[in-house]
Amino acid sequence: MTASEPNAAPTGTMSSSAPPDGTESLDVGAPSGGDPSAPSITTTGQAVADTMEQVESYLAAQAPAAAEAAPAPAAAPLAPAPLPPLPFRLASGRYRSPAIGYQMELRVDVDGRRPLMRVSGDYWSVSGGTTTYFGSWTVDAATVTRTATEVIAVGTARTTWPTTYTVARVTIPRRRVFQPAAPATVRWSTPTGAVGATYVCAHESGSLRVVELEQDVEAGVTAFPKYDTGSLPSGGPARTLTVSAAYGEAGIQVLDTGGGNTLNTSGTHVWNNASLHGAMTAHFSRFAERPQFKVWLLHAARHELGTGLRGIMFDQQGLQRQGCASFYQVIQAATPANLREQLYVNVHELGHCFNLFHSFHKEFMTPPLPNRPGALSWMNYPQRYNPGGGAPSGAAAFWGAFPFQFDDLELAHLRHGFRNNVIMGGTPFGTGAAMEVPADPVQDTSGLRLSVRTTPTRPVLGTPIVLEIALTAERGQLVHPAEQLHPKYGQVRVTISRPRGDVVVHRPPVLHCMDAGLIRAEAGQVLPASAYIGYDATVGQVFDDPGTYRIRATYTAPDGSEVVSGTAMVRVWAARDEEDAVVADLMLGDEVGMALTLLGSDAPALADGMTALQEVAEEHGDHAMAVYARLALGINFARPYTPVAPDGTVGTDRPRDLDRAGALLRPALDASRGDGGMDDLTALQVMGYLARSHAAEGDTRGARQLREDAGRLASEKDVPTAALDLLRQEDEES
Ligand SMILES: [Zn+2]
Repeated sequence: MTASEPNAAPTGTMSSSAPPDGTESLDVGAPSGGDPSAPSITTTGQAVADTMEQVESYLAAQAPAAAEAAPAPAAAPLAPAPLPPLPFRLASGRYRSPAIGYQMELRVDVDGRRPLMRVSGDYWSVSGGTTTYFGSWTVDAATVTRTATEVIAVGTARTTWPTTYTVARVTIPRRRVFQPAAPATVRWSTPTGAVGATYVCAHESGSLRVVELEQDVEAGVTAFPKYDTGSLPSGGPARTLTVSAAYGEAGIQVLDTGGGNTLNTSGTHVWNNASLHGAMTAHFSRFAERPQFKVWLLHAARHELGTGLRGIMFDQQGLQRQGCASFYQVIQAATPANLREQLYVNVHELGHCFNLFHSFHKEFMTPPLPNRPGALSWMNYPQRYNPGGGAPSGAAAFWGAFPFQFDDLELAHLRHGFRNNVIMGGTPFGTGAAMEVPADPVQDTSGLRLSVRTTPTRPVLGTPIVLEIALTAERGQLVHPAEQLHPKYGQVRVTISRPRGDVVVHRPPVLHCMDAGLIRAEAGQVLPASAYIGYDATVGQVFDDPGTYRIRATYTAPDGSEVVSGTAMVRVWAARDEEDAVVADLMLGDEVGMALTLLGSDAPALADGMTALQEVAEEHGDHAMAVYARLALGINFARPYTPVAPDGTVGTDRPRDLDRAGALLRPALDASRGDGGMDDLTALQVMGYLARSHAAEGDTRGARQLREDAGRLASEKDVPTAALDLLRQEDEES
């Protein structure tokens, strides 16, 4: 038997010296490390320290404990007015064993604020000069007993690695508040009582995790300072909360590491996702590209998606969940309601970075959980609040009852989730286990129909696949507006079965938190959306093998109905000739996928992707794929780009270049008038965007011509009227 895992008892000479019978009173302190090469001296040292610690704590605790247990008849005459015993220190907090063999970080959660009666930990494998994360374990339901001298938590752990030593017994000597905290001892055993390893972990902090937060502020924005939760009616005690304090209440210490750069944008600056992504990339360059409890928050003013957008959590392959932004455009004035909103938005966006989903989207997690629309949580949307049973719902009811906290399951995730599921840069947003294709509902009385199809119809390897989504209301009812059917808003989930045999639950690389109202769809009304689904936050390029892909979508209606589409099949053809192969190779680059998602970017991190697209547009201009390359390159020229340097300085906006945009987009649009090229809705949206850009530059005539052209195309192609509504809406915004 080898002990290559941290919970097992030591092997070789060590095990011969350890009692095989598991006698509890003879706790020799198995070494923290199943590695046979672990020095035995250390092991013995730990065992001795453990024993001495227990004796010492026993002695130290005896007197006050006795005083507490019985009112000390002998002492009473000497002390007629005995002081009440000082309270005990909390056992909850973070502990750490020495960095030898396997090092354990232990989290104890048995008392203090909202104790969950859980313990959890992470292991690092320490070898020579390197320390490597090994795995995590969690006891979801610990049995906690308190004696006069000890707090003991026992329970069965879930672990990220296979082990038979799953029963954790955590012992913490009780100390009075004026005494230093005692170390915690974790002893593993099998369910049948065979004793495994023991770890003695020194107390480190009262918080369960530490996260470093770097914040930058756009010029003209005052970052949220603090909010007195008693300023307006609420469901909790009045207290002053900062973002850090809100996380502190959850047991998470947020260390403000400064940053504090001001991004000196112009007063009217509007962010788009490409600029934000570039700004974040510049800042991420300070971080190593590995999981770290470090997160970046930008306090910004405006996003081109308008005032409804509260915030964004960026989620990108390789660097997931490391940055977010909040937008102050309509909530800047320091009224109590605005400060409350600012607090909520910032805590909420950071919650996404910890891998928390919206309360009403828990089903989209893997593994899925039931939605909790009645959650009084940072992760709910106030206007989505619905406790059910006819109780008051909506924003006013939410704020009136909200105690400014996470709900219990979120708290458990933040405090005790397996490290990679929580840490920034760990597992992708919302993932962690197997995925399933949605099943057909047993019955569907939603009065809604969802259909999907892909364009183009006969894609060759490397072609960006666009999903056309159409929601039909069979009777009049409230639904999400058409543009919110794009998967990036989270109402529509897209599942793709691939020819290689796996299933991708599509996760767009940028999650938008949109506070948009619902609309009333008339009976028979069709709401269309189109979404590029070729690039995914989890798997990168989705359609990178020839073969047949099966695609389904699920729409979560405002009433909670799950409307599942039929299956769209798309066959991706292998390259037919040498040029196909060259173009496919260019188009399937990882950066190309992100560049297509953002419709172009100036970000240095995506420069290779943009160069590849340029090569397709210039060297392979007659190839069918050139349409998509021109689309991304052209849209990028049609909008300004804000460069942000790694030190936080903001360069001058690269202005729109409408000549170059037009030179790229016109041939792409012309190639899409027939059956080929981009789908109709995308073509219309491109025209709308270009028209807006012309209007923004004062070229009203050019803008009008583009809109007229769009109108002609729409009537030729017989697109749903809602698509034209979308165009009109864009016009009004411009
Ligand atoms: Zn959100």
